[in-house]
Amino acid sequence: MVDVDQYRVKEEPYYRTVSDEVTLYEAAYAARMPVMLKGPTGCGKTRFVEYIAWKLQKPLITIACHEDMTASDLVGRFLLDATGTRWQDGPLTIAARIGAICYLDEVVEARQDTTVVIHPLTDHRRNLPLEKKGELVTAHPDFQLVISYNPGYQSLMKDLKQSTKQRFGALDFDYPAAEVEAEIVAHETGINMTVAEKLVAIAHRARNLKGHGLDEGISTRLLVYAGNLIAKNIDPKSACHMTLVRPLTDDPDMRDTLDAAVNTYF
Ligand code: ADP
Repeated sequence: MVDVDQYRVKEEPYYRTVSDEVTLYEAAYAARMPVMLKGPTGCGKTRFVEYIAWKLQKPLITIACHEDMTASDLVGRFLLDATGTRWQDGPLTIAARIGAICYLDEVVEARQDTTVVIHPLTDHRRNLPLEKKGELVTAHPDFQLVISYNPGYQSLMKDLKQSTKQRFGALDFDYPAAEVEAEIVAHETGINMTVAEKLVAIAHRARNLKGHGLDEGISTRLLVYAGNLIAKNIDPKSACHMTLVRPLTDDPDMRDTLDAAVNTYF
């Protein structure tokens, strides 16, 4: 038996609503429509799913996808133990059985032959064949699938097939508007709004460099990191260099450009 309680989000996560995403998601959940969250890394997708799971009072199972992930990592496998072989459900199977919201984070990282195992769960069938075990699991009525996807990393090699994409309703996520993002950073870290606004202004400078030497802009997550260090009485300049600049680039010229941007604010 699975302990469902371990998958419950016990306390309300802080989530600052940005647009109509909560209303749309709730309607999608009511229709048990699979949902895709599109957007850059660190912009609030995971926090949003945690908040939704809490709001709907459903267990949440999160799976971080990677390119070595196999279908067995999702559905389960036979294990050898002292008494012989024993089947162990994978996280997707557990989610289908207990009626969890199953969040496949960065699904595009998984190989396409892995991604197809979710197909029967995303249409009217709502089932999951465990081929090796010879069992067809019917999804619990509360089960729902949500995936995240960063279109920025899209390449010919790595993209979702149309046959996968077209099984989802999609919500666009992005870094929030400046004042909202500052509010989030201040709330998450305890720094004051004036400092939070400066951090956001630095992020805006860096985001303009995306595609001009930077693969990704400074995420909200990194702004929260900077705020956390500043809240620990670290000098803002050093905090920004450590959290907003060094993680983003290895290129010395770009590093100097970003350091200079930091230095104009602090
Ligand atoms: P993603 O899943 O998009 O990579 P996360 O959900 O982990 O990003 O967001 C990174 C961090 O940014 C969160 O831990 C949280 O501190 C903050 N954050 C971003 N957007 C929001 C939001 N709308 N409300 C509250 N916190 C947010």
